[in-house]
Amino acid sequence: MKTMIVGGAGFVGSHLSEALLGVGHDVTVVDNLLTGRESNIRQLLGDPNFCFVRRDAITPITASEMAEWGEGIERIYYLASPASPDDYFAWPVETLLVNSAGVYNFLQLAERNHARFLLTSTSEAYGDPLVHPQPETYWGNVNPVGPRSCYDEGKRFAESMTMAFVRNRTVDGRIVRIFNTYGPRMKANDGRVVSNFIYNSIKGKSLVIYGDGSYTRSFCYVSDLVRGLQTVMEADSDIATGEVFNLGNPDEHTILEFAKNILRLTGADVRINFEPARTDDPTRRKPDITKVQTRLGWKPQVMLEEGLNKTIEWFKIQQL
Ligand code: NAD
Ligand code: UDP
Repeated sequence: MKTMIVGGAGFVGSHLSEALLGVGHDVTVVDNLLTGRESNIRQLLGDPNFCFVRRDAITPITASEMAEWGEGIERIYYLASPASPDDYFAWPVETLLVNSAGVYNFLQLAERNHARFLLTSTSEAYGDPLVHPQPETYWGNVNPVGPRSCYDEGKRFAESMTMAFVRNRTVDGRIVRIFNTYGPRMKANDGRVVSNFIYNSIKGKSLVIYGDGSYTRSFCYVSDLVRGLQTVMEADSDIATGEVFNLGNPDEHTILEFAKNILRLTGADVRINFEPARTDDPTRRKPDITKVQTRLGWKPQVMLEEGLNKTIEWFKIQQL
């Protein structure tokens, strides 16, 4: 199976690349390394079934590129986009473009090759949700001009573009809304709560909680997510084409509980400091996974403590 992963040099994409190579796919990663790293895929570069194209997804695909790496693709996973708030605050225009022009380019590639297309959208499409937990039928509560809007509205546009290609242009497209996912290969400095808390604990630095610690998130281990992405992509068309599926772990924690968990698991003896909550930071988030569980049989298997221990071990052996 010829498979393309756009954004495959990032945290999730590198794990997905490994998993797909492991089940016999030919994998082409397209990535401009804006927030990803070549070190994430270095171990794959010698594999004859793996190809890395360093390239911006925003640029239209030329005829020569089509001949070189675009022909015969059967699956396109579209993961390209900054994902950490600190990353999309730093790259708002790039975030909007990769979720609009970039998605358009690769939907056209899917159309031309009759390839299946899977868009990785986000729980941020629900904004600061007024419905809890969040089912796919909830339309969300997004501030269209706030600092997070480049990501939230970018992903909502990407979903709309994908559905237009499903309804009017014959592409077999599927959408997943991913909730907070963690694991090895997160960047120590990407600003997300999991990497910040683990990195600071290992370095003996205090943890910072934005707000009073009562905000919640539900954390999914990366191997569960990768299995979910494959499950949705390979599901029969009559079940999955034009459908949206939440992928996440419904095990919900306050950020204060989460900080205490990290301190317990790392054995760190550092302070927890509190700073003002960030603008439009969602106050609660928990996926309703009934749809993916009942229709596709997917549910997470890795408990938080097990996943955090693996992640902490990985961070400890990095040259941080
Ligand atoms: P990441 O930042 O590690 O990976 C994103 C990859 O996209 C990077 O390798 C980056 O270089 C690449 N990229 C960005 N702009 C590009 C462009 N213009 N052209 C080519 N490549 C480009 O993030 P991640 O955590 O691996 O997330 C992967 C996808 O999953 C993203 O689309 C993200 O929105 C989505 N998602 C992730 C989470 C999570 O918790 N990790 C949650 C919700 C949604
Ligand atoms: N957060 C925090 N301290 C940090 C990083 C994040 O308190 O060092 C909070 C953040 O304000 C949010 C939650 O943790 O309420 C999750 O943040 P993250 O950036 O990991 O992901 P988000 O769910 O916001 O995309």
